[in-house]
Amino acid sequence: MPLYEHQELKIYNSLSGEKEVFQPLTNGYVGMYVCGPTVYSNVHLGNCRTFISFDLVFRYLKHLGYKVRYVRNITDAGHLENDAETGEDRIAKKARLEEIEPMEVVQKYTVDFHNILYKFNNLPPSIEPTATGHIVEQIEIIKEIIDKGFAYEANGSVYFDVLKYNESNHYGILSGRKLEDMIANTRELTAQDDKRNPQDFALWKKAEPQHIMRWPSPWSVGFPGWHLECTVMSSKYLGDEFDIHGGGMDLKFPHHECEIAQGQAATGKNPVNYWMHANMLTLNGKKMAKSTGNNILPKELFSGDNDVLSKSYSPSIARFFMLQANYRSILDFSDEALTAAEKGFHKLMDAIALAPSIPTNPNNSSSGIKEWREECYEAMNDDFNSPALIANLFKAVKFINHKIENKITILEEEKEILIKTLHDFTFDVLGLEAVTALENNQDSERLTNVVELLIELRAKARANRDFETGDKIRDELAANGIQLKDSKEGTTFSL
Ligand SMILES: [Zn+2]
Repeated sequence: MPLYEHQELKIYNSLSGEKEVFQPLTNGYVGMYVCGPTVYSNVHLGNCRTFISFDLVFRYLKHLGYKVRYVRNITDAGHLENDAETGEDRIAKKARLEEIEPMEVVQKYTVDFHNILYKFNNLPPSIEPTATGHIVEQIEIIKEIIDKGFAYEANGSVYFDVLKYNESNHYGILSGRKLEDMIANTRELTAQDDKRNPQDFALWKKAEPQHIMRWPSPWSVGFPGWHLECTVMSSKYLGDEFDIHGGGMDLKFPHHECEIAQGQAATGKNPVNYWMHANMLTLNGKKMAKSTGNNILPKELFSGDNDVLSKSYSPSIARFFMLQANYRSILDFSDEALTAAEKGFHKLMDAIALAPSIPTNPNNSSSGIKEWREECYEAMNDDFNSPALIANLFKAVKFINHKIENKITILEEEKEILIKTLHDFTFDVLGLEAVTALENNQDSERLTNVVELLIELRAKARANRDFETGDKIRDELAANGIQLKDSKEGTTFSL
């Protein structure tokens, strides 16, 4: 029986503002869409936090036994410089500045994005579609929205009619914004505007002569509006209605609000059941921004090459640091906080390596390990509460160290559950990778030589019937997380 049958997962739904029991549309299957990056610059650390948050969601759903189809797009066209739909296309601008083709910009920063997420040990999504690969589908859905009366053509561009939509639907359902307030707070339309109302947003824009990323359409040679691609790619791969849609908090309005309106207008169905939003990362208490220099790139974190850092940090430690906070809370990044996380990380890894050395005794009574495992699930079932999970893993760290230091026995069965649960949650669910001395090749070679020498000395001792020395070598190695394994072919070791 899959785990999800007896684990009740609750998800904080931005749509209702409440934690709701997760019930997928099809039992055992989950469709999840997350807004991916606009690939016109190096991915910044705040974006990485968003994608690590949804990697945690993806991993835990899989751990529970769901078959998950995770779609995360690449925005390679249509995202203009400012979200009010003016200015240059971000990718085209970068291409102009770097004097390369727009698709070279796309390729360069897509590769960078993949490399960085791979270092953070994020699992790749099931499908990673691109906006430029779905122009035909975007044109088709615009036709549908026009046919339903929720969009109009003006001077070669097509706009979504927000006021018309709001007569029979609720524009603002996700963000909680009121249309009257939006109308009161926006500027008057000027003569150059083709829109009927300032709240209307572009589904298709006619290309200005200098706009180089352009495609033919029934209305003009132009390009799709940014919000449209996510509606098209999510419905194409997950259906008109699907389970989870995620993204950064900053996308809630207007991007996600517009996605709901487009989907609802085209199909008459509410496209998404659970909306999830990951919060931002600040640096030393302030918003990260390239313009103020209060900014750090992932590669600077890994190399230590940034003034705010005293040293370099491995991707796994940075990942652990981020998962120590709830994905819905703002997290402040600082050198001190990372150093503290590094200490905690090593404590956890050391304890996991030591757990197999806990002595066992069949006459023991229970140490409460099954209850502890249930608490791990309770933490994750509470809207993917990774800080609560990590706190619970540290209870196990204390338990392991106490048993080993004082040579206290536990039941073999409990020891097995302890080890498996630690591995499941630390490596599979949190997606951490053990950083050991073996990371460094030189150190690894030295360590291998030393352990092999000890194995040889132990074999000699045993040949001389000096079992006390032989056992001491084995036990001391075990206490340092190195397991010896005897077989007919000789002795091998593992960390
Ligand atoms: Zn999107």
